[in-house]
Amino acid sequence: MEAMRKKAVDALPGSSWTPLEINPNLPPERADIVIVGGGVVGWSIAYWLKQKEMVRGGVRVLVVEKDPTYSQASTVLSAGGIRQQFSLPENIHLSLASADFMRNINDHLGVLNEDPIDLQFNHSGYLFLASEAVAHIMEENYSTQRYAGAKVSLLSPTQLKEKFPWLNTEGVVLASYGLENEGWFDPWTLLNAFKRKAISMGAIQCCGEVTVCTSFFPTSDDGMSACVEQVQMPNSLEYQPVECAIVVNAAGAFSGKLTEMLGIGFGPKQSIAGIPLPVEPRKRYVYVVHCPDGPGLDTPFLIDYSGVYIRREGLGGNYIAGASPEEAAEPDASNLEVDHSFFEENVWPHLAFRVPAFEKLKVTSAWAGFYDYNTFDQNAIIGTHPLINNMYFATGFSGHGLQHSPAVGRAVAELILDGSYKTLDLSGFGFNRILTQEPKLERNIV
Ligand SMILES: Cc1cc2nc3c(=O)[nH]c(=O)nc-3n(C[C@H](O)[C@H](O)[C@H](O)COP(=O)(O)OP(=O)(O)OC[C@H]3O[C@@H](n4cnc5c(N)ncnc54)[C@H](O)[C@@H]3O)c2cc1C
Repeated sequence: MEAMRKKAVDALPGSSWTPLEINPNLPPERADIVIVGGGVVGWSIAYWLKQKEMVRGGVRVLVVEKDPTYSQASTVLSAGGIRQQFSLPENIHLSLASADFMRNINDHLGVLNEDPIDLQFNHSGYLFLASEAVAHIMEENYSTQRYAGAKVSLLSPTQLKEKFPWLNTEGVVLASYGLENEGWFDPWTLLNAFKRKAISMGAIQCCGEVTVCTSFFPTSDDGMSACVEQVQMPNSLEYQPVECAIVVNAAGAFSGKLTEMLGIGFGPKQSIAGIPLPVEPRKRYVYVVHCPDGPGLDTPFLIDYSGVYIRREGLGGNYIAGASPEEAAEPDASNLEVDHSFFEENVWPHLAFRVPAFEKLKVTSAWAGFYDYNTFDQNAIIGTHPLINNMYFATGFSGHGLQHSPAVGRAVAELILDGSYKTLDLSGFGFNRILTQEPKLERNIV
């Protein structure tokens, strides 16, 4: 190859044009594990795989990310929140483990001679408000949370008013407030910390899009296997297949699309192959508002029973707010344009009712991002597909994938390298629940 290259270069006028140069950005031709999607989930998995390998360099991990600017990645467009207040024990344990990881992040992800990681963590409890209709669910959730080890307290309307005098408690029958392990942080810093550490441990990154991923029968006895047939280089016709043993689908909101490439969802109806991965992009708006007279440092991450949320964004009277739309009013998810009328009609009235000071707020900016929305039960889908034995899903988090990424990465690495969960049992989040039609729904009263 080198001789041919020299011959071609010598035959051409000028010396700097190197027609047979191998594109240095192409992925390697072979890897043990290809992770599709370099968001926080993909890089967390890469880190944990490298962390768990017995011999340095023992597991060749490649992370393929199509957009190095992360312009549409959920991770960097999220609200950055972490809470323990879930109703499913799995989600509570994921939060507790992830909070512990973040508390000790420099022990896990620090890199010698590099700056220490500062997640900009704002410790602040989530404050969920319950109306009469759902107060009993809040009480049940509280018991589940306490049993799982989460520190949460219940507040009566009187206690609520004492603690947060700026809050209008009309219609509120009960509230639950997180005392520990809750708040918000900078999502990009977490993503970058996973990435920096994983690369320092030998993970390989490639900027490209997996455009062809197919399934085949390796031998007549085995199930089907997925293989990455085409990683397309950006702004180029060049592509390369990557031979690998395992594919991890961490493509976030677009993980359903990646799964479709394998034919999943296109088999005969009533067959396993006919059931798609129920994950699709759903657009969510985040509005940045300014209100100098709004509540101050003690502002919790407030979740009203209407579904509207608001939290402080730094200081100086800045906040971010939003809400999920009704199912029937889901906005067009083909772009990330912001609908400002959604704030006027569906968010602001609830905010102004709950916190009268917010009547005077001004929207200063806004953005939209995609939830990796699991249409089946709005919870994570983790593990292999019953027909494809080498593709591992880590997707469908529907609004809480950022906070759970540290513990999810560890769980997926355990499944791949140990063959089963070792720390947290997440088998309830497997694909099989979709086949058996047993949704794992949050009873989260919003
Ligand atoms: C407005 C909003 C607010 C949110 N708030 C919170 C919150 O407060 N707390 C919380 O925990 N979670 C929150 N979330 C959810 C959270 O952001 C996601 O669950 C999480 O970031 C998912 O991470 P990911 O790595 O799977 O996805 P992503 O960050 O989207 O990463 C997936 C990556 O895969 C790449 N990709 C896709 N297809 C391919 C392909 N074929 N080839 C190569 N690359 C590909 C994409 O470019 C993308 O970068 C929020 C989300 C939104 C939109």
